[in-house]
Amino acid sequence: MDSVLSWFSGSAARDGDDDDDDDDSIASSTMSDDDDGREDGSLDTTRESLGDAEDATSPRASTSDVDDAESKALLPPRKILHPYSRVRDAMNAGSDTNAGLPSGLTNGGNTCFAASALQCLRRATALTAWFDDIDRWHNSARCEEKRKFCVVCEYAKHLERATASGGAHSIGRLTKDINKVAKQFRRGRQEDSHEYINALLDAMHVAFLKDLGGEKKYDLRTQETTVIYHTFGGYTLGTVKCMSCGYVSKNFQSTLDIPLEVTGKIASIEAALEMNYCTEETLSGSNMYKCSKCKTLVRAKKGSKIHVSPNVLTIPLKRYSTGRFSKITKYVHFPERFSLAPYMSDDAPYEGSDPVYDLFGVLVHQDFYASAHSGHYVAYVKLPDDTWVLCNDGRVSVSSEKEAMKQKAYILFYERVTPRDGPDVRPAGYLEDAVRAARSERTTSAPAMSVDTSDIRSRLESMKFSSARGVDDVISYRSEAPVATSTTTAPMETKTETTTSSMKPSFEIETVTAADGSNELKVIVTLPGCTSVKEFDVELEAQASGANVLVICATSLYVAPIKIQLPRNIVDEPRGSTFKRKLGKYTVRFPLVGAA
Ligand SMILES: [Zn+2]
Ligand SMILES: [Zn+2]
Repeated sequence: MDSVLSWFSGSAARDGDDDDDDDDSIASSTMSDDDDGREDGSLDTTRESLGDAEDATSPRASTSDVDDAESKALLPPRKILHPYSRVRDAMNAGSDTNAGLPSGLTNGGNTCFAASALQCLRRATALTAWFDDIDRWHNSARCEEKRKFCVVCEYAKHLERATASGGAHSIGRLTKDINKVAKQFRRGRQEDSHEYINALLDAMHVAFLKDLGGEKKYDLRTQETTVIYHTFGGYTLGTVKCMSCGYVSKNFQSTLDIPLEVTGKIASIEAALEMNYCTEETLSGSNMYKCSKCKTLVRAKKGSKIHVSPNVLTIPLKRYSTGRFSKITKYVHFPERFSLAPYMSDDAPYEGSDPVYDLFGVLVHQDFYASAHSGHYVAYVKLPDDTWVLCNDGRVSVSSEKEAMKQKAYILFYERVTPRDGPDVRPAGYLEDAVRAARSERTTSAPAMSVDTSDIRSRLESMKFSSARGVDDVISYRSEAPVATSTTTAPMETKTETTTSSMKPSFEIETVTAADGSNELKVIVTLPGCTSVKEFDVELEAQASGANVLVICATSLYVAPIKIQLPRNIVDEPRGSTFKRKLGKYTVRFPLVGAA
């Protein structure tokens, strides 16, 4: 996963409400590396709109239409891209290949992070079985990308070698050309296993979409129906319940893993899940919530549930939450079999059977001196005959479940004992009905707003999914934020029902010479209606491409996070930032490397 650099959060930042000074200087030195996995750049699908080719000229669905549609239930996909039945069948059949010890993966120089990841991924039956007849989905013989680098062709080759070879073999281009898996990686450098898994799955997902005409052809929910999402994908549901009127605002988020905090007294995976998915936070005081029904600041309860359980559940333990230079080294207990049921939402749509999971992989980062920078990765994996083996680069040796369960795991891999039901295709008229129902519920005093549904369906194809929560929860996948080269002003959509201003946020970017003669980039974001730094969060997202995107989330003011693509040559720690309350202007300055 990419790093998300959070240099202040709205609630933590000093607010200037009680002094008369017009400027709020915001400290920019407290930067934490938020090891949030899927909730940031590399793997994430952008919440940006995705127009259907045939509807390329149609107007875009407003973010509030999509919000409305998803205010009751997860919007089903319009199409299913990869047949779900194959994933279900593969899981039901189990793995019949790979008898005996798996082949080792020789270390080609700091490649243990990849070897361990690949050994675990190979045990994800549904994905491995998908590659049995990969030519049905991806024509390797005619693959034009193959010579340059094609992640699907390379993964196919890797699996072939793994099956054919009795001993150890090299990982090949999946590490030799690692910068083509994702640009942030460097060959020969010790990378992070979790980040590598995210990047690899994302690259395959994107390649599969490309085979189907490109991601732009499909709405986001349809995109989330490749084999990668069928296998690893799930959804979380974030809710905020108004304590005055009881209105519940919902936000569905797709995810390819469930990262868990293991800070403090958390001693087990169940405790971590309990904390994440069974407790509610009360938003009150300076942290009040703007209810879209009451249209005023209210006390509210914020919570999160798992809404769709993944078939393969990947749980990264956030051992690096205090930054990359230290690590939480304690043992965290994890079960061999457990159920996600206590953490699921009441109206989870596709479960079919109990979400019971069996452990099949334990990826371990053996650290030296509690450093996240050095160390060695190994993986304990369970073979189809229930033998546990230890994969340590080229060496594979028989181990035991007991041994695996003793490890200070970094990433856990579980498979659902029975596959869940597949997604349903969205019925005709679904969006129109959902929008109508949501709007009539939301407006009690006034009659239901008249909804122009004539073009909603076509606009749906280019919809923008938005986050109703903080930036931590924003999935941004290949952001298509406007690229600013010199000075750009771009209008953004506002949350029409709750915004305090009819104006739209906008930004400008300029290069200035600082007092010391060095160049810096100044980003000035105008946030209409915003009166306090507490009303927004700012983060810098490192994209898989290596570019940085400035993300500003003002969830009580605007539906969508504001995303601003920054030039590559910035130093990602800002020099400083200010907020001018009267003007609603937030300014942040980044040092520039080399010429502007
Ligand atoms: Zn290919
Ligand atoms: Zn309310």
